[in-house]
Amino acid sequence: MATSATPIDGIAAAAFRSVLQRVQRAAERSGRESRQVRVVAVSKTKPVSLISQVYDAGHRCFGENYVQELVEKAPQLPGDIEWHFIGNLQSNKVKPLLAGVPNLAMVESVDDEKIANNLDRVVGSIGRKPLKVLVQVNTSGETSKFGVEPSECVELAKHVSLGCPNLEFSGLMTIGMLDYSSTPENFKRLSNCRAEVCKALGIPEEQCELSMGMSADFEQAIEMASTNVRIGSTIFGAREYPKKQVQT
Ligand SMILES: *Cc1c(COP(=O)(O)O)cnc(C)c1O
Repeated sequence: MATSATPIDGIAAAAFRSVLQRVQRAAERSGRESRQVRVVAVSKTKPVSLISQVYDAGHRCFGENYVQELVEKAPQLPGDIEWHFIGNLQSNKVKPLLAGVPNLAMVESVDDEKIANNLDRVVGSIGRKPLKVLVQVNTSGETSKFGVEPSECVELAKHVSLGCPNLEFSGLMTIGMLDYSSTPENFKRLSNCRAEVCKALGIPEEQCELSMGMSADFEQAIEMASTNVRIGSTIFGAREYPKKQVQT
């Protein structure tokens, strides 16, 4: 557009900057630098205009958890965004997701072999670069259909790593509780899973990301070695529907 951008920083951009500072301080407390912790700005239910504010503040990594919504928004936003898909993915949505979002950088929510196989096949058939994936682990013990049990993480990580040539196994993800709260126990369980997976695959822990921590607990997650925090409401404001529905 030819019209000049407003010189006044939007509210989401300001919130984003403050999140970055908190991330930086938490990273320092964990003996790391902030560039070792990726911030996924979770923009679900939020309009493209708000996402653009955070993009214009220099951010490039955003997360969505509904295929339909992502496929609608992605083409309206710059192509150098690295999208993370963080929601439950159904097999019949794999093709629209990959076809509609060429700049999809990562699927964080792979929780069974079937979805891994589907992603692998579709990535191969459309001829894009290998897709990074995380294995989602249910660390809370809640009866939820999402995420493998901690005892199953090695098997699925092996399957992705050895049996899916078009996928790049990149680590593990957890949501904690259904209400988006997590505890140090959740984070501890995920890092235990990482130790097992790395041993089984013979890879160093630096090659296995830990995606944990959301608005309520990202600083604690970073102090417990998270490499990828998914932050929604603290950047974009509260969402306008009950949180419960997010999981369905
Ligand atoms: C919505 C969502 C988030 C962000 O939650 P906030 O509490 O708003 O930061 C993180 N991870 C997943 C998987 C989500 O669906």
